[in-house]
Amino acid sequence: MLIIGPCSAESQQQLIDIAGAFADSEIISSSAPFSKIIFRAGLWKPRTSPSSFQGVGENGLPWLMKVSQSFGFPVATEVATPEQMNLAVQAGIDYLWIGARTSADPIAVQALANMVQQLQSSVRRQLTVLIKNPTNTDTALWLGNIRRLQAAGASVQAIHRGCNHRPCWEMAYRLRQEMPDVPLLLDPSHMSGQADLVPGLSHVALQLGLDGLMIEVHNQPDCALSDAKQQLTPAQLSSLLSVLAQDFPDRTHTARPDDLAWLRLMMDEVDDDLWNVYLRRMEVSRAIGAYKRQHNMKVVQPARFNEVLTRRLAWAKDHNLDPVIVETILHQIHTESIRMQS
Ligand code: PEP
Ligand code: MN
Repeated sequence: MLIIGPCSAESQQQLIDIAGAFADSEIISSSAPFSKIIFRAGLWKPRTSPSSFQGVGENGLPWLMKVSQSFGFPVATEVATPEQMNLAVQAGIDYLWIGARTSADPIAVQALANMVQQLQSSVRRQLTVLIKNPTNTDTALWLGNIRRLQAAGASVQAIHRGCNHRPCWEMAYRLRQEMPDVPLLLDPSHMSGQADLVPGLSHVALQLGLDGLMIEVHNQPDCALSDAKQQLTPAQLSSLLSVLAQDFPDRTHTARPDDLAWLRLMMDEVDDDLWNVYLRRMEVSRAIGAYKRQHNMKVVQPARFNEVLTRRLAWAKDHNLDPVIVETILHQIHTESIRMQS
């Protein structure tokens, strides 16, 4: 499944232009290597700042339906409240998704699940609801949300989008292990926040055997009213899909990679964290160097280093780590710290 379209609906013409570009592009409309294309646009936007663009709200529902009627794409939008869900379903929207912020609130998700149950009996069809991982890295909450929606009778799919532009692969790995039957998509746009990282992450998603992608695409990304930096142009999406079609020619690509691929992604992410922490430590070290210069203090303070070392060795013992290795690493870090302060 390939879910594509702008972060936000901005005008009916914008949606028509983007959907028209998808329909005109042979590679996009053939949807290789995916089996279904869905057009997305956010109407009610969960923004951090009240002064940012908040979305066009229900005014955009007929615009999405126009895309559906003119180009034949099923359409999807984000819902955060039962009222929004009701409006979207009554308007004929095919797929609903619950965003990362709403997914962090189990009361909000339960209210949406209750509305799913109510709507399914009135419209007499099963609703498909996609739910993103919560922004607070709480995998158990994500799984709990999926169970709430399943218990209400929805057909549920998960979208992994990371947290604060960190991939948080471990969340997706755990979801895959604990709920192997729930389709899992990747949203490389929100995961990275950067258009140039979207192709690489999309490739990783297909290597992992994930079930689809949600990618933000805008006809003029630089002028987008939300998430300008991460949206691809339709032409960029076309070239990404050509590469994916070449690298993953088998549409029924069902082979699950073994755990090593996941574990290596998690390892790379931990390494990134480790080196970023190292960098931060050196920045603090430089600030301490400036303080010592101002106060005519010696750079090397043996009593302080011994205190740090003793604490770390006790910690190493608690965690069953080899004290010789921990001491060696700490000495190396200290050596670099002294250089930063000199
Ligand atoms: C979106 O898809 O436009 C969106 C707001 O996503 P998220 O909930 O992942 O931030
Ligand atoms: Mn967005």
